[in-house]
Order: sequence, then C-alpha cells, then structure tokens
Amino acid sequence: MSPATYQSLEWKELLLKTTDGARANRARKIKDEELIINKISVKEIKAEIRSYSIKIDLDRRILSHDCQDWLKGLGIKRICKHVGKLFLQLPTEKSTNILTDLIEQKDKWQFQASATSDDG
Ligand SMILES: [Zn+2]
Repeated sequence: MSPATYQSLEWKELLLKTTDGARANRARKIKDEELIINKISVKEIKAEIRSYSIKIDLDRRILSHDCQDWLKGLGIKRICKHVGKLFLQLPTEKSTNILTDLIEQKDKWQFQASATSDDG
C-alpha cells in the first residue's frame, strides 16, 4: 500500500486506533461549545474542555492532559473522550496528520499528566 493509506482513512478509523469505540462515541457526544481551542500552530495546540486542559507539543511529540480517564490510560497511550473531541474539532488535515503520526510513531510520543503545580 502507498504511504497515503492512512490519509484515505476517515478520522473515525484513525481515532479508533488510538482509543476504543465507547470513548470515540463519548467524544462525539461532547458539545462543540464545550471545547475551546486556544492555539493552533505548527508547533503546538492548546485547548480547554470543561475544566480540563489539553496541550499537544508537536515538536517534541508530547500530549498533556489531566482528566481521570487520561491518567488511567497513560501507560497504554489511550486517548480519552476529551482529547478525542479535540481531534474531531481540529481541521481535518491537521487532525489526520497528528493521528497518523500518533499511530505510526507511537513509541516516540509521550503521554503526560498536565503539570498543575505551576498554576499556583
Ligand atoms: Zn480527558
């Protein structure tokens, strides 16, 4: 298959490779207005959802977030519904690129608990 194989997959199929069906469904149920994307650049993406924050460092391949489900899934690099929702809301191309990289370069990505200590 060509390198474009992943590009031809829908976000849904890509998302399912980073989480499970139940979480993908829950991500879809989060309302658009609950997600605030604060920044999208080549290097990083920052967003807020409900009372949580999400940060994607694209340079260093670090995904930081802070909900309970995220913390439980850290070890196996499983995406929670909030991060899933972010991928649903990002421009398709951006979302596809990041998800593809997450799947193909999984070992190089770090999933982290957001540092809350420097919030004071
Ligand atoms: Zn979450």
